[in-house]
Amino acid sequence: MQDYKRFYIDGGWVDASSKVQLPVVDPTTEQAFAEISLGDEHDLNRAVESAVSAFPEWSRTDPAERKELLEKLYENFKARAQDMAEAISSEMGAPTSLAQTAQVGAGLAHLKQSIKILEAFDFKKQLKNRDTVDNIFYEPAGVVGLITPWNWPMNQVMLKVAPALAVGCTVVLKPSEIAPISSMVLAELIDASGFPKGVFNLVNGDGAGVGTWLTTHPKVNLISFTGSTRAGRLIMRAASEMVKPVCLELGGKGANIIFADADEKAVSRGVRQCFLNSGQSCNAPTRMLIERSRYESAVNEAREMAAKTTVGSAHEEGRHIGPVVSEIQYDKIQQLIQSGIDEGATLLAGGLGKPEGVEAGYFVKPTVFSDVTPTMTIFKEEIFGPVLCLTPFKDEAQAIELANMTDYGLTNYVQTEDQVKAARVSRSLRSGMVEINGNLLGPASPFGGVGLSGIGREGGVWGFEEFLSVKAVSGLI
Ligand code: NAD
Repeated sequence: MQDYKRFYIDGGWVDASSKVQLPVVDPTTEQAFAEISLGDEHDLNRAVESAVSAFPEWSRTDPAERKELLEKLYENFKARAQDMAEAISSEMGAPTSLAQTAQVGAGLAHLKQSIKILEAFDFKKQLKNRDTVDNIFYEPAGVVGLITPWNWPMNQVMLKVAPALAVGCTVVLKPSEIAPISSMVLAELIDASGFPKGVFNLVNGDGAGVGTWLTTHPKVNLISFTGSTRAGRLIMRAASEMVKPVCLELGGKGANIIFADADEKAVSRGVRQCFLNSGQSCNAPTRMLIERSRYESAVNEAREMAAKTTVGSAHEEGRHIGPVVSEIQYDKIQQLIQSGIDEGATLLAGGLGKPEGVEAGYFVKPTVFSDVTPTMTIFKEEIFGPVLCLTPFKDEAQAIELANMTDYGLTNYVQTEDQVKAARVSRSLRSGMVEINGNLLGPASPFGGVGLSGIGREGGVWGFEEFLSVKAVSGLI
């Protein structure tokens, strides 16, 4: 059993004051492989005080100095990419190949992107106002609390840690208690990179404990959160007491509109994207909307694709999908599959129970439902598993209407060879992001949603701005 019971506070590894521990379970084996401490209020206060002490000096460092440290971190991260990938496979079940490429790759890409933006970022701008010139300063928001989920652990952690440190904030990170080990590896990397003590702190804990104390701590100036809409609401409510700014990246229920003139790979690409990471992506295209004339062939294609999708251990290489993260998640997905059956959707592939021959591990059958209607639970609720819903539409107006029939608004997808139509439809979709014809948005683009998908944008310069506060000063010559 790996021992990760200490916290990273004030530039070193310290014993937890809390005696409460939590096993970290490998979803492939259902066995605990590590143990963490769940911090108490004393642990959290210690981390916040350390970040408060480090802030004045760190916030005044030259951007070039911060860039140098982030570059060192990037080199160290690359050197230990394999350790990071193994931690991710063990803690949340992403198969080796996915962990090494997309999971670790996303973390590295966001770090690199922050370094690039920092090189050119203007922390002071001049604004001509009639006959005066005002100075606009972009100042670090202060001590920031970062709370992250388990599904793309290093992607989400790095989307917060890199820009926060780049702009001069000091940080208290509370990673997901379900997938905390990759963040412990990150803390080791930060330690080895020579950041001043107190600039980065990590305390493990659950949402009701450390998550809530961090959100309500009077010395924490801002909360950046990624996770469920349920927790996002609680955080926003708790932070409102102090009018504390919150950046919320929440759930999604993406529509993938496939017009009859879409390229021939549109359906298979959509199925693959939905099943990626075992369906555990906030921006997964989980509702495939298909133009009526192409519906029948799409149904056949999706059924075949699901049958071809293999499920296997997170500790093996290959293009298979891994288990879902936990028993709770497995049970929730089973209930939603059952609701699809009960409410009259047609089960095309997969369904209830574990794949044939599988005994241990939280493995879900790659599942496709057709004839899904907007009143069905599986059309409305985020499933967060390898479950795809197919719904036909008759024309462009109905496609847009169906796509927007959700309170979420993270990423929608449009497939058509007609660029004019693609542009028109993308402007009509209520979401923070739209991807057209399989073109992925890059790491310099803003990531975030509208409605129940959250508030704020991460990534690129937008990610920097989340951690900055704007000050206008007149009368400087
Ligand atoms: P979760 O909300 O249960 O937990 C996320 C984090 O919040 C964890 O660290 C948890 O300990 C903490 N937390 C829980 N309750 C809290 C509270 N009351 N106060 C403070 N912290 C609290 O989510 P999860 O199950 O870990 O992740 C899955 C969810 O995350 C899905 O809904 C998914 O769509 C969403 N997600 C969104 C994005 C995005 O960028 N929009 C990205 C990835 C995942």
